[in-house]
Amino acid sequence: MTLADRKIWMDGRLVPWSEASVHVLSQSIQRGSLVFDVMPCYATPRGPALLGFREHTERFCRSAELMAMDLPLDLEGLLKAISETVQANPGTDMVKISAFNAGFSLDVLPSDAHPSIAIAAFGLVDVLPPGMELFVRPARLQLADSIKLPPTVFSPQAKVAAGYTAASVAKAHARSEGFDDILFLDGAGNVAESSTQSFMLVRGGEIHVPPLDYVLSGITRRATLELAEDAGIAIRVAPIPKSALDEAEEAFLTGTTINVCPVERIDDRRFSAEVPGPVTARLRERFERMVRDEDPVFSPRWLQTV
Ligand code: PMP
Repeated sequence: MTLADRKIWMDGRLVPWSEASVHVLSQSIQRGSLVFDVMPCYATPRGPALLGFREHTERFCRSAELMAMDLPLDLEGLLKAISETVQANPGTDMVKISAFNAGFSLDVLPSDAHPSIAIAAFGLVDVLPPGMELFVRPARLQLADSIKLPPTVFSPQAKVAAGYTAASVAKAHARSEGFDDILFLDGAGNVAESSTQSFMLVRGGEIHVPPLDYVLSGITRRATLELAEDAGIAIRVAPIPKSALDEAEEAFLTGTTINVCPVERIDDRRFSAEVPGPVTARLRERFERMVRDEDPVFSPRWLQTV
């Protein structure tokens, strides 16, 4: 199926991909108020399944709530609309759901009583810009000059378009200097996350992850931590000072488009274990097994059929 054949769910109707557009003066374009979530879809013998279907959709509702958006559908209605969209688009491996204020407004406040909802289901290779690749190799990260927005300004749990401005500027800078992505610190100088991935490091065989004060509660992070716990790997959820990067044996990113991806270096720091280190490799292997629908416990738990 090419993009031209795909259908996007727009406020209850499946419309051709090229017709799913909004006005240039819509409040969400002008103010960046669109909220969204992205979830991966896998073909399984049980049918197409979204990793963390319910968790992603709940997070989408939470993003809308944090943006004071009154969604026209509840959780069950959204789950049904997403299922319908995936079924109408065979060969889907990614689903993006958005809510946005389509109307014109000069004010910061939208004129719409309810936001519009759009759901797109597509093949990842069809939408990657030419030359852009996912991390097929261990990631090289650059520490960003800017920091994560403090939660007192805006919650990191809201996936909202305007929340990614600092990340896109910093990532463009990192790319121009030969890095793949960035690593943000928070206001206290602790390690936070990359532009769109959660960060973890390994020290003394234990996994260290930042608490959720400054970082998004990644669904891949949640699944990875469950796999780690099941594998008997100790997990420490506590602020990670920047100095801990020098002492780490391994580091890795987790996220919807990359699953578990080893980090090769951060600026010019390298890790003591070879890349991928043993903990990263073990988790990546377990994660890939889960998404191949081969894990008797975690595949049915996380791969939820539509
Ligand atoms: N942090 C940020 C800021 C993100 O945008 C994402 C992508 N949703 C993640 C972390 C990773 O989250 P997930 O595992 O749910 O893709």
